[in-house]
Amino acid sequence: MKRILITGGAGFIGSHLCERLLHEGHDIICLDNYYTGSKQNIEHLIGHPYFELVRHDVTQPFFAEVDEIYNLACPASPIHYQHNPIKTIKTSVMGAINMLGLAKRVNAKILQASTSEVYGTALRVPIDEEHPLQAQSPYSASKISADMLGNSYHCAFGLPVTIVRPFNTFGPRQSLRAVIPTIIAQALQSRCVKLGDTRPVRDFNFVTDTAAGFLAAARHAPGRAEVYNLATGSARTIGETADLIADLVGSRIEIVHDASRDRPADSEVMRLLGNAEKARRDLGWQPAVDFRTGLQKTVEWVRENLQTYADAASFKS
Ligand code: NAD
Repeated sequence: MKRILITGGAGFIGSHLCERLLHEGHDIICLDNYYTGSKQNIEHLIGHPYFELVRHDVTQPFFAEVDEIYNLACPASPIHYQHNPIKTIKTSVMGAINMLGLAKRVNAKILQASTSEVYGTALRVPIDEEHPLQAQSPYSASKISADMLGNSYHCAFGLPVTIVRPFNTFGPRQSLRAVIPTIIAQALQSRCVKLGDTRPVRDFNFVTDTAAGFLAAARHAPGRAEVYNLATGSARTIGETADLIADLVGSRIEIVHDASRDRPADSEVMRLLGNAEKARRDLGWQPAVDFRTGLQKTVEWVRENLQTYADAASFKS
């Protein structure tokens, strides 16, 4: 049994990680300030003898004797960093400094949640870990900074650091800030689906695969500030994704362009298609859930929780 700190544990991916690590018999500290996450995501874990919930802002110092740290806390969606870039930057950078400092102090292994967005619009595909980094948004810049801080702590202090770069992740509990739940919730409630640009291409991981990738990295990565992509290696446009969702929901939808949902042209990442060969080779990780099955599970979950998504059409993702 390990004692594991998960920052952003009440968020979408973090809640699946807490669930999985508890299930494996570990002792979990879930740290979150509920800025974008919610207690609802982890309410089924509250009361478990090895689950401790701590309300805390990761930009402030934190101390606990732990063996591993998964640092996920970040307001990650465009709706946040377009309106409050400083908050996103502060959380990524100060959060990384505090968590790297804690890892150094207690001699813990640390996994930093980076993102495929650090690569920007693909200069070549599929994107491997050697692809140039292009900061097309404050979010991307903040994650590049956190990754570099991780690298620097490894070089300067020998800290075991692993940087994991998931490509877009979807699944149960994801909020309306992400495109897939936005499409599903609208398609379940109306024939008219309002979307921003439908041309961007994305490589979508199902959330349990992303969580499994974090675990594989914690177990098998050498801790040399290695970077691992988590990607499926196949991609589709947002428009194609909407058509597939309409098919699963069983409705004929009409996509209406809503310009207020567009990202600024230079900030929109037009193509993300990942190469996760390194994770496959070093960590033995590969996605287990195909896109259609993952979408089916997500449609079921949104259908069962539709009250949470009542204002999907008016939500600006
Ligand atoms: P999320 O918004 O659901 O989760 C983020 C969590 O961090 C939330 O619970 C939020 O309340 C918490 N948080 C934010 N600021 C905080 C602070 N100052 N102190 C403490 N907690 C704070 O997002 P998610 O999709 O689960 O993303 C989790 C991580 O994975 C993020 O770092 C994100 O950048 C990364 N990531 C996500 C995706 C994706 O497609 N969802 C893809 C690549 C990388």
